[in-house]
Amino acid sequence: MSRPMLTIIVSIFLGIVVGTLLIIAPLQPPMASYILHVSHTVALAVLFVAMGILCWLLFHEWRFTRFEATQKNSMGTAFLELKKGFETIFDDSTSGIAQLSLDGRVTKANHAFADLLGYSESDLLTMNFYQLIHPNDLNNLQTNVPLLIDKKLKTYQSEQLCYRKNNETLWIMSTLSLMFNSKDKPDHYILQIQNITQQKKAEERLHHMAYHDALTGVANRNKLDQFVSHILASSRRHQQEFALLFLDLDRFKNINDTIGHEAGDMLLQIIAERLMSTVRNTDLVARLGGDEFILVITDVKKTEAVALIAQKILETAMEAIVVKGQEIYITTSIGIGIYPHDGQNIQSLMKNADLALYRAKEHGRNNYQFYTSEMTSKTQEKMALQNALGHALAKNEFSLNYQPKMNIKTRRITGIEAFLRWKNKEYTSITPDEIISLAEETGLIIPVSDWVLKTACQQLNEWHTMGFTSLTMAVNCSPRQFKHATFVDDVLRTMTQFNLPPKSLELEITEQIIMEDPENTLRVLYALKDIGVLIVIDDFGTGYWSLNNLRRLSVDKIKIDKSFIKQVRVDETSAIITSAIIAMANTLGITVIAEGVETREQYEFLAAEGCQEIQGYYLTQPQTEESITAFLKHPMPEGEMAADVEVIV
Ligand code: C2E
Ligand code: CA
Ligand code: CA
Repeated sequence: MSRPMLTIIVSIFLGIVVGTLLIIAPLQPPMASYILHVSHTVALAVLFVAMGILCWLLFHEWRFTRFEATQKNSMGTAFLELKKGFETIFDDSTSGIAQLSLDGRVTKANHAFADLLGYSESDLLTMNFYQLIHPNDLNNLQTNVPLLIDKKLKTYQSEQLCYRKNNETLWIMSTLSLMFNSKDKPDHYILQIQNITQQKKAEERLHHMAYHDALTGVANRNKLDQFVSHILASSRRHQQEFALLFLDLDRFKNINDTIGHEAGDMLLQIIAERLMSTVRNTDLVARLGGDEFILVITDVKKTEAVALIAQKILETAMEAIVVKGQEIYITTSIGIGIYPHDGQNIQSLMKNADLALYRAKEHGRNNYQFYTSEMTSKTQEKMALQNALGHALAKNEFSLNYQPKMNIKTRRITGIEAFLRWKNKEYTSITPDEIISLAEETGLIIPVSDWVLKTACQQLNEWHTMGFTSLTMAVNCSPRQFKHATFVDDVLRTMTQFNLPPKSLELEITEQIIMEDPENTLRVLYALKDIGVLIVIDDFGTGYWSLNNLRRLSVDKIKIDKSFIKQVRVDETSAIITSAIIAMANTLGITVIAEGVETREQYEFLAAEGCQEIQGYYLTQPQTEESITAFLKHPMPEGEMAADVEVIV
């Protein structure tokens, strides 16, 4: 019961008591005066007590009401203060805050919100927040917002790309909270946004670095793997084909060494740009490192289309590249694998495209090859062969054959050339040329060449000991030897070991070796000349070496290639070239040798033109050391060599 109610009830009760006493009092006079006296006294007492209680109650009632009023007053102030506080936070916050209606209209926005988006606050009040969001991010936002209404989420935080008023884009982190009214019904959203553009840009940079090649900006291996696994899945689903092109710049290493690494890098950047411009947006260009690139051509309808792209790449790569004011020409070789025929996954596709690339290199570079299954069997055969060759030295399967050279004027045997031979039951038909190029590929050429040099020098020492002291030994050199750091030292050590004068060794090198890596080869050649060994340019006429170079290097001898000698009596051009080479060598004071001389006519032609030395079947075939020792003791010319050509040792 409330206090006022209690007061009223007590007052009424006391009123009734006092009233009753006052009514009874006049009734019986003798008693009456007594009663009256008593009742008056009682009534007065009761009245006073009642008045006292009433006053007490009224006092308390007054105090209570006053307390309530003060209480109410102070609560209202706190609320107002709180509200004001919130408004200050809302207005002054550096995060953008806005109030949104349930359908996304902006009903209130703070300065920071307006600033971030570049609109005025009043502009915003006419707008819907959703219209500021990039379409790619809108769907996600709109599907998650209902979760707030269903109370499955308390707040929803997400990242969106937003448009500012000036159409610039901005990355924001938005936090949406749903506010409920007093009846617990959704009323509005409170949206907070933060500018995370810088963070996003940093993330994008990191992502870009993780998936792109730092030098050229094209995709790297990570991106290639990701792209191919994606393309594999979609090609499988839609039964489409795609092509993987394995690209390698021809002789890039030499160019890089010649023009310097910085210019080499610029060249790679230009090539990468050219590759990018050759393919569609849906294709991919990746760099594996060095000068190796991979192209993935998606949705291939016909292999002819891939061939056209490959052809276009060959052509664009060949266009002059100007780096640091220098014009450079480079060519490429391309191997192509097609999904699904040439591989069902990235590893097998890359392996097969690489085999095709290898074939393209074998076919003289600057061309493209599609993978065929025959390439795999060839590679397997080749691997077995290389394996067998790898064991040949240890199994003592190598030997040398020797072929003499004769000076035309003096008819003296001037020297011997050593040729490598391999005795293996399984590989009987493999030629020395093939052995040498296989050994070059595997690096086996270094120990093999070392063995050749030592064996030939040892043999020469034996012949010198037998009395054939003027004999020289010609040893063929291969490109890899020139790149081997200890080559010059090895030559010197071997000469000393077998007590041979440096002039008794002739090192035969081809023009090709010099062309492949001119700077290094020339450096090594000068060092060899310093030792005193003789330098012979082998297969002369097949390369592109200029006369000027011959003069600069002070080459000791040139050996006219046997392809010209074979034709001297058949083809006029060969005869003209041979005569010109002989004349030129004589002018320069360089000894000229003709190799592959087989007939008397060839011999007579060469003698008439002034060639100094001949070598070939006309004299004798390359033979074992015993046969050559016998030949040296009783030099009997073979074949058509006329009796009047007496060979003297
Ligand atoms: P090359 O140095 O030009 O050797 C000449 C080749 O012609 C040799 O072939 C020789 O046997 C052959 N030949 C000699 N006279 C005649 C002839 O009258 N007519 C014809 N048609 N051929 C003749 P081979 O022995 O098969 O060697 C081929 C190539 O292999 C050599 O060409 C040389 O480049 C390379 N080679 C051989 N042995 C070695 C070696 O020990 N080290 C290196 N690096 N290369 C070697
Ligand atoms: Ca030779
Ligand atoms: Ca030759």
